[in-house]
Amino acid sequence: MLTPPPPFPGRTSRQAGPTRARVFPWRLALALGVGWVGATALAEPGHAQTAAPDISLARWAPVADAIFGHAELALAEHKSAELLAQELSKEGFAVERGVAGMSTAWVATAGSGLPVIGILAEYDALPGLSQQPGLARKTAIKTGAPGHGCGHNLLGTAAVAAAVAANQQRRTLGLPGTIKVFGSPAEEQIIGKTFMVRDGLFRGTDVVLSWHPEETSYVYSRPRLAVTVVDVEFFGTTAHAAAAPWAGRSALSALELFDHAIALMREHILPTARLHRVIKAGGVAANVIPDYTKVQYFVRDETGARVSSMLGRVRRAAEGAAMATETRAQLTVRAATREPIYNETLSQVLQRELERVGAPAWDEADLTLARDIQRELGVPLQGLSTAVLPYGPGHGATASSDVGETSAVVPLAELAVATRPLGTPAHHWAQTASAGHGLGKHGMLTAARTLRGALLTLLRSPDLVQQAKSEFQRVTAAQPYQSPLAADARPESW
Ligand SMILES: [Zn+2]
Repeated sequence: MLTPPPPFPGRTSRQAGPTRARVFPWRLALALGVGWVGATALAEPGHAQTAAPDISLARWAPVADAIFGHAELALAEHKSAELLAQELSKEGFAVERGVAGMSTAWVATAGSGLPVIGILAEYDALPGLSQQPGLARKTAIKTGAPGHGCGHNLLGTAAVAAAVAANQQRRTLGLPGTIKVFGSPAEEQIIGKTFMVRDGLFRGTDVVLSWHPEETSYVYSRPRLAVTVVDVEFFGTTAHAAAAPWAGRSALSALELFDHAIALMREHILPTARLHRVIKAGGVAANVIPDYTKVQYFVRDETGARVSSMLGRVRRAAEGAAMATETRAQLTVRAATREPIYNETLSQVLQRELERVGAPAWDEADLTLARDIQRELGVPLQGLSTAVLPYGPGHGATASSDVGETSAVVPLAELAVATRPLGTPAHHWAQTASAGHGLGKHGMLTAARTLRGALLTLLRSPDLVQQAKSEFQRVTAAQPYQSPLAADARPESW
């Protein structure tokens, strides 16, 4: 029998977002008579960035490099979080540290009054992805150490650079309004924003912008996948594997049977679903029957409702495996996020700025590194993306992010900017190598400039902000936000 799961991170009663009335962005665009490109139907406030102070690599590359060097894991991003907080603090932002029960989470605020425009900054690294920057071969700086294989050193730095530059110009122009930067730790473990939402940190913020390093440059329109992270543990009975195997009941056999059941289940899930895992504990010695094993699964699909339904099947597979092997199974949900709701109005603002700024300006060293990495990985030697994709359906990644939780409580749009060679993956040494090199930083510069322009456009356009909020209310009216967290849940790394 399965024991009931403990409270979150062990709660399974609500693993992902409720279904909601969704209006696909392109349908909304048609309904509003807004074109995909240019969005000329939207209020055009003029370019606030006229005479804007430049966002330069000389100023911001050292920050990105420092965070690259720290490469700190979820909820342990002490140096990275503090560095970004200090950058904001010395530019006149008031920083509140240690928010939502996380020592590495903060909120930085500048200006006053309405509108309140937010931007998300992430800075956590991934385990085992240490990599020499700019080297086109898998070579760790320190074997087994964390690395920025998702480019969050660029992500956090660009968000802060954009906020600083936008705030300088807000002051110069004497604009009313507030800029808020949300220092969001532990994105790789789907923790930070979920707790920041639960503790009400986005309350009073009108709209939020975000970005993520990718292989080309566009504005997200296809939602990332909803995900629930679940630990499945088996408890058996140990015995000498040769002297008295009949006295034991193997937790490893249970895990293998469970894993096989999931492998067979993959034939009967939607093509949009993803089920992947690592074995965290598989026993310690072949001559000792393991009495404890643990496998961690990521259960993903396009909607939280589908993930919830798949999780029921995962639970039954664990129960079956435990029954067959005379062991006990326990499921513990570690994290969950729903699929993001991308706000059409805000997305159009980002698109317009991205087209104005243009794709990253690569140099010869970037192109050489890109081709060397592609050669090493055996993918076509396409170099780097010089395109800005026109706004439209289907742009996005099947990865998940806790921006999904933020997007359920405040209108949100997300930008993607090329920071790695075409045809190469994230969560891979190739992204780490690029994130520590000029290649990644040229992408970061494009992101920062685009976000700075979007922040200013929104500060100058209360009507646009109101339009984004009205759209948000329409899209989410059927389903008010419900946290996936238990009331007494506390942030903890898994
Ligand atoms: Zn990421």
